[in-house]
Amino acid sequence: MSLNIKRPNGTEDILPSDVHKWHTVEKIARETAESFGFSEIRIPTFENTELFQRSVGETTDVVQKEMYTVIAKETKFTLRPEGTAGTIRAMLQNGLLNEALPQRVYYILSCFRHERPQAGRLREFHQFGLEMAGSAEPSADAEVISLAKNILDRLGLKNIELYINSIGCPKCRSEYHKALRSYFSERKENLCDTCIERLEKNPMRILDCKSPVCQEIAKNAPVILDYLCEDCSGHFEKLKKYLANLKIDFKVNPKIVRGLDYYTKTVFEFVTTEIGAQGTVCGGGRYDGLIEQLGGKSTSALGFAMGIERLLIVMDKQKCDFMTPKKCDIYFATMGENALEKAMNISHELRDFGYRAEFDLIGRGIKAQMKYANKIGAVFTVVIGDNELETGKVKIKDMEKGTEIEIALDDKFRINFESLYFNKMMDSIDDTEIGGNENG
Ligand code: ATP
Ligand code: MG
Repeated sequence: MSLNIKRPNGTEDILPSDVHKWHTVEKIARETAESFGFSEIRIPTFENTELFQRSVGETTDVVQKEMYTVIAKETKFTLRPEGTAGTIRAMLQNGLLNEALPQRVYYILSCFRHERPQAGRLREFHQFGLEMAGSAEPSADAEVISLAKNILDRLGLKNIELYINSIGCPKCRSEYHKALRSYFSERKENLCDTCIERLEKNPMRILDCKSPVCQEIAKNAPVILDYLCEDCSGHFEKLKKYLANLKIDFKVNPKIVRGLDYYTKTVFEFVTTEIGAQGTVCGGGRYDGLIEQLGGKSTSALGFAMGIERLLIVMDKQKCDFMTPKKCDIYFATMGENALEKAMNISHELRDFGYRAEFDLIGRGIKAQMKYANKIGAVFTVVIGDNELETGKVKIKDMEKGTEIEIALDDKFRINFESLYFNKMMDSIDDTEIGGNENG
């Protein structure tokens, strides 16, 4: 291709043959969130750059290295690298926080980060995420974590571990920052350039650095849990109690600090070791300071985001069930103008009743039409020619069994088709119960 119109690195096409997998994840995530009292919110794909600088944080990888920013008529805009900042901005701008609390919203959206593309790490990826604003209680943390766990369970995922940590509040963090600064200062010459800069501004970010050398140094760094104030440690203890009550297994991992600056107190990750280094399928936590930082009244809040591509990689690997892709319910093979018009009319009626009905649109001969019907896996086919139009009767063929039944091509066609269809579906349920092997 001489024109450079290929897909950019780190982006993916989601093809019709795979889209049912996405529908499965989206449906389960939506239904689960709704059952917990969350409603969907949709926000713009880009925001003023300042929003992300202020919320995600100036010293984070996301802001320092990964943002897609454009300057349009002297204003700087950035493609959203995550969903929380835009969601909180929208809640503030539309006064949602003046309504009944807690406010609970979820979203399914694409995010953009200029990272090095690899399996499970893209430049455009998709998140299912949610935010709850207006509760400072540890019960809210347990609610949000159990919601995430619920989604992963309903997707059928196995061997996913939950790690939790508390990274405290600004109060306990100031002592901790001192300890970190002194630890890392002694090892400064080996840190990467970005981390040397972070040492003064935000030493906790060093713990999240992806450089192997920095990670090695960070291994023995002081842990935040030893520095928590009474309020933060009480909060963490209660969360652990609630999770135990819900029989949700977890491990406390003091190394989790998360890649975004706005977190306070609880942070958590759901991780699998089955897909290599990009194993974090869900990350989240509490961010009690963010809303005030963005100009709202001080309001506690928390949330999480799941990477949909990563979920799908694990689901494929573990052979989880997906919704069955919708197939053509009935295909009309037609000969001649009159037959075509008849097929159009009946198809429209069937479609109004929710069936997927198709007929020839490219002027193929009858043999080629049947070949096509086979290819698309049509459940039933009907041939309409002059003969059928004259007698007012057609043969409807069950493509799987090869059996044919004659039915009238009149006002009752739809009703007769529906009962045939219903019986076939009941048969296939019986077959599976007797021990047939249905997949999908
Ligand atoms: P990681 O440590 O893997 O870079 P992160 O801390 O940057 O993740 P978050 O900002 O918390 O991730 O995003 C939430 C989720 O979105 C992650 O747990 C992951 O599943 C997914 N995710 C993040 N970045 C990418 C990416 N570049 N490509 C695909 N999925 C991603
Ligand atoms: Mg990242």
